[in-house]
Amino acid sequence: MVRNLVTRDSLTSLLNRRESMRRLKEEVLRCQRYGNKLCVALLDLDRFKRINDTYGHAVGDRVIKHFALLLKNGLRDGDIVGRVGGEEFMVVLPETTVAVARRTFERLAEELRENPFSDFSYTFSGGLVRCLPGVMDDALLEQADVALYEAKAAGRDQVVCVDHPVSGH
Ligand code: GH3
Ligand code: MG
Ligand code: MG
Repeated sequence: MVRNLVTRDSLTSLLNRRESMRRLKEEVLRCQRYGNKLCVALLDLDRFKRINDTYGHAVGDRVIKHFALLLKNGLRDGDIVGRVGGEEFMVVLPETTVAVARRTFERLAEELRENPFSDFSYTFSGGLVRCLPGVMDDALLEQADVALYEAKAAGRDQVVCVDHPVSGH
């Protein structure tokens, strides 16, 4: 119980920010040492402020929970899923290629369209990167954040992938 209190987010019971970052660092080190495949995505709910303003903060919280459940149910056991900000999430996908990760998020977006939140629908945007030799966790997150920003700028409801020209995986 104490361990859960320290590592989990109380609203969603996903990993909290600190634990998410600790696990990311671990996986990036593994990727650097052993060349394991690794993808990282930052996801952010679209126009969330509008949801809060329209329906109230309590409904906003339920939307966050709804999305957390979608991630929990729709990702693999070995994937690391955390709530790293108000309506921001990080997903670390060990042993996963960019192509598979991209399809995973497309599938999640489709599931969300098919099973929307009770009264209204919402969408998410994402930035997806893969771990490359010499790129540490901070830089990787920065790349994912840039990609996320691109997804927002391009109209939201999409996951932008930073694809590197040199194919190591
Ligand atoms: P964008 O599509 O660009 O992401 O627009 P946005 O409105 O989602 O982005 P922004 O980051 O400006 O707003 C996020 C809002 O999320 C602001 C804040 O009030 C709200 N928020 C943060 N944490 C929580 C929370 O725990 N519960 C609720 N209900 N709202 C939260
Ligand atoms: Mg945000
Ligand atoms: Mg948002």
